[in-house]
Amino acid sequence: MKITEHLNNSNKTLFSFEILPPLKGQSLNGLLEGIAPLMEFNPPFIDVTYHREEYIYIKHPNGLLEKVSTRKRPGTVGICAAIMNRFKVDAVPHLLCGGFTKEETENALIDLSFIGVENVLALRGDAPKSEGKFVPEKEGNSFACELVDQIVKMNNGRYLHDETEVGFHTDFCVGVAGYPEKHFEAPSLGFDLKHLKSKIDTGAEYIVTQMFFDNRKFFEYVKKVRELGIDVPIIPGLKPITTLSQIVSLPRTFFLDFPEELMTELEKCKNNADVKQVGIEWAIHQSRELIQFGVPSVHYYTMSKADATYRVASEVF
Ligand code: FAD
Repeated sequence: MKITEHLNNSNKTLFSFEILPPLKGQSLNGLLEGIAPLMEFNPPFIDVTYHREEYIYIKHPNGLLEKVSTRKRPGTVGICAAIMNRFKVDAVPHLLCGGFTKEETENALIDLSFIGVENVLALRGDAPKSEGKFVPEKEGNSFACELVDQIVKMNNGRYLHDETEVGFHTDFCVGVAGYPEKHFEAPSLGFDLKHLKSKIDTGAEYIVTQMFFDNRKFFEYVKKVRELGIDVPIIPGLKPITTLSQIVSLPRTFFLDFPEELMTELEKCKNNADVKQVGIEWAIHQSRELIQFGVPSVHYYTMSKADATYRVASEVF
């Protein structure tokens, strides 16, 4: 079922979450067993992230450096199939512009459609860590908006090399990313919102936000989005903080701020167990307030460790 149908059919806030494919060499079963307890809260959909290639450099005996592409977390499409098969819920693969030509994207979408995937989250992706700046593939999409356009065209039976409408139309509901604290490359929130609007005007049907820890920022963001005439559902993304290292890494990686009240509590923590307790309590507080605000779903970034999300959900849903 489409995400928009799930949201429209429900008269209460839903519970949803995101997982990462396991590191190459680790088992799918471990991942599925890990998230199984979360099924108690009836998630209508589960997002599966996509991880593009990274590069390593190999030095040959002759002194030449060879750039080799590696992927640490392959398997997004297979995991989607496994989730739908095992849990009978919709899986939402993340699809990137980066690393794909439009032709490869077209073929990936046909595969997804054939295995019964009805929703995709269309994203630009970031540059590989070894490169500073996002560079699209030569024949690829440069921004998420272009990827949305390609998917919508396929939904209308328009493929890349066909002038005429083809027989098989895909039928994807397309989601896109939103950033309550602005995307890190955007010079201003206004600039970022203008491009968010292009994604919606092109045919995206819902927004999932980057994680945030200050609900006031989300409420202001929703107000600004609505003022632009964007009326699609906005799903807030939450991450329960679980380790001391995340106090530094989350703001740095995702370009966000912790509110002062949360920082005060985190500063008292001496070990990971303390942080996890504070993180869970904070996520419970955020979730309750968001539900009261009337969000369609609260979406948790589990990073494939379901325990903290389970403890939050058991208090909230
Ligand atoms: P876009 O919407 O294309 O925006 C990128 C930047 O370009 C923004 O600053 C925007 O303001 C600007 N911009 C947009 N259009 C234009 C234009 N026409 N001209 C000039 N500037 C423009 N990354 C992964 O690698 N894998 C994942 O699975 C993944 N999942 C994610 C899930 C969520 C919910 C979120 C919020 C992010 C996720 N990301 C993921 C990270 C995402 O790929 C990065 O944040 C990336 O830098 C931006 O992607 P986007 O789709 O928001 O890009």
